[in-house]
Amino acid sequence: STYLLNDRFVKEDEITVSIEDRGYYFGDGVYEVIRVYGGILFTADEHIGRLYESASKIRMDLPYGEEEMKAKIEQLVKDNGIIEGHVYVQATRGAAPRVHQFPGEGVVPVITGYTKAYGQGAEPAETVSLKSVEDIRWMRCDIKSLNLLANVLAKQEAHEHGCYEALLHRGGTVTEGSSSNVFGVKDGVIHTHPVSNFILNGITRRVVMECCEELGQPVHEQPMALEDVYTMDEFFMTSTTNGIAPVSAIDGRQIGDGRPGPVTKALMAAFDKKLPAPVAS
Ligand code: PLP
Repeated sequence: STYLLNDRFVKEDEITVSIEDRGYYFGDGVYEVIRVYGGILFTADEHIGRLYESASKIRMDLPYGEEEMKAKIEQLVKDNGIIEGHVYVQATRGAAPRVHQFPGEGVVPVITGYTKAYGQGAEPAETVSLKSVEDIRWMRCDIKSLNLLANVLAKQEAHEHGCYEALLHRGGTVTEGSSSNVFGVKDGVIHTHPVSNFILNGITRRVVMECCEELGQPVHEQPMALEDVYTMDEFFMTSTTNGIAPVSAIDGRQIGDGRPGPVTKALMAAFDKKLPAPVAS
């Protein structure tokens, strides 16, 4: 497959990234993951917009603009013949001898990207289980940064308990998943953490909020208490790679009857309608 390296498309063995790259030393960079449905990028502008916002929040100027980035990502998807899958793109602050403060003029960000093709056949919208984990991340979770150590540890803890995803909470207040946003449904009302520095403003979350608006589905953007999630009628998580995934259990306690509930199902149907039309085969 072909990779993106700055403004070029290269094979894996042609890629050289410096051992002094600040992404490698400090996780000093930002990234995005964009889904491809039927060969078409979904919500590409929103993802690319967020990439540049994340870059700006860490005071990093990317060497080219959003339009060119989009063209490059589209080219990468095309070159690799991705029909169902995703594209990953990241930008680090560049390579320079290791000091914490920004490198001087002349050090430019390093942009890399790859594509991933999903297995043949529709990925089932499987029901997932969650494990609650204390959210020990920093105070700028709104930035999609390469610093994912706390997320990695949380996801690992969830997996070691046989769960698919970690349900992060700060002292009992639910924030989001380790790589997803989370929603509870109680008495017909959806509850989810408001957009703030404590969560990533997920693109899938935005699409789901749009669906709620269109369906007249009430949403309460207030943080949930961890102790309240176990008795929710329904629970689901959202992310670029999984779309909307119903949650069957949290900490081993079944949610509802353990199957996707009516609100989750209605949102999944509304979400599906927003996806690029499948290409005729
Ligand atoms: N929250 C975190 C911490 C994430 O890493 C992600 C995505 O990976 C999300 C939420 C979901 O965001 P999106 O829907 O844009 O993929």
